[in-house]
Amino acid sequence: SAERLAAGRRAYDLDRQHVFHSWSAQEKITPMTILDAEGSWIWDGDGNRLLDFTSQLIFTNAGHRHPAIVRAIQEQAAELCTVAPQHANIARSEAARLITELLPEDIQHVFFTNGGADANEHAVRMARLHTGRHKVLSAYRSYHGGTQLAINLTGDPRRLPSDHAADGVVHFMPAYTYRSHFGAQDDHQEAERALQHLQDVVAYEGGDQIAAIILEPVPGTAGIYVPPPGYLKGVRRLCDEHGIVLIIDEVMVGFGRTGAWFAHQHAGIEPDIVTFAKGVTSGYVPMGGVAMDDAIYSSFAQTPYPGGLTYSGHPLAAAAAVATITAMREERMVEHARWLGEEVIGPRAARFLEDHPSVGDVRGLGAFWAVELVADRQTRAPLAPYGQTPEVMGRIVAEAKHRGVLPFTNMNRIHIAPPINISAEDALTGLDALDAALAVADDHVAR
Ligand code: PLP
Repeated sequence: SAERLAAGRRAYDLDRQHVFHSWSAQEKITPMTILDAEGSWIWDGDGNRLLDFTSQLIFTNAGHRHPAIVRAIQEQAAELCTVAPQHANIARSEAARLITELLPEDIQHVFFTNGGADANEHAVRMARLHTGRHKVLSAYRSYHGGTQLAINLTGDPRRLPSDHAADGVVHFMPAYTYRSHFGAQDDHQEAERALQHLQDVVAYEGGDQIAAIILEPVPGTAGIYVPPPGYLKGVRRLCDEHGIVLIIDEVMVGFGRTGAWFAHQHAGIEPDIVTFAKGVTSGYVPMGGVAMDDAIYSSFAQTPYPGGLTYSGHPLAAAAAVATITAMREERMVEHARWLGEEVIGPRAARFLEDHPSVGDVRGLGAFWAVELVADRQTRAPLAPYGQTPEVMGRIVAEAKHRGVLPFTNMNRIHIAPPINISAEDALTGLDALDAALAVADDHVAR
């Protein structure tokens, strides 16, 4: 309606006057106004309908306006909107039970946080106190959050303005077959060589000085590069050999994104600590958490844990988590995501490789895929050097939006991450639009 459009224009103007945005040069951005959203669809400030292939920031796993989740939040708000963290509460207890039920048997306790970064902060604090060690290893080409320690842990260029190579964080090269740092020709070689490298880093740093290794089981923003078979098992083994706590960061990929409840399950490993956020509530109310195994828990069974948050386990978020997990189970969304990856998104996106000389690699799992754009397929040279966003990305996004789909982009990659319950029909509609938009990139390729 005209009224709604006018409200959207006012929202935009006020945003530009008063809202300070993440990761941005404030006067160089033109935020997209979102007036409305339902399921996999959003409506922009001009009333255009777009398929949301971003799940916003990869969190609306159950889609927008899921009636059961909305109802649970409304009912919780009416019944008991908030309590302090030191009290017991039905919604929070039930959320903790449901989450631990999805994790290995010896993970029985959850410390709730407000989001992903603080979950990782607390996971590292726990690992340090548990082991009495300080160093933490994390991967280049990773993202673990924007707070001080979490940005130090991060291995993408957003770290550099805030990182002082401090706080005991040491980075290593992850396994990434398409851009192997180790000259590997295939997954098998990449797993073996990346593990040898990590083993060397552990040896040089002193295995008995390392509290934790933190890893995304499928790195998200850094490129959806699915680890080669055997890699995560090897990391687990290395941690066991040296008494290092393995923290698996499931913030982006947990709760169904990759076609498993948690992405580490594809690799058949058991982490010591799992951190999560985003999809746990489908992003409807902010929540994150640290799920710890009994060994970590026991360090704080008789000795106080030195940390806490005012809103730890906020009932509105907890009710949203309970409703999200329940809806995901009842509607078999995780199985659906796996099917989408195997039968719908994967095969359709693979055709981009045949049809577009600008596409160097297509990879992913479930409802989580990356299309990597290159200037030259032979050399795999990215469309712009590491850390830079190729100029053409903006035009690809504009063309995709014009054709009715909103993609997620990072550097030289397009990420496909719709709600995990998107219909095959909508997924294919969006992929067709993306296919057409990729023609914009083909002009930039050496032939
Ligand atoms: N860890 C991973 C893997 C993420 O993708 C993110 C956010 O994108 C975070 C941590 C940080 O989460 P938050 O922004 O909720 O602090």
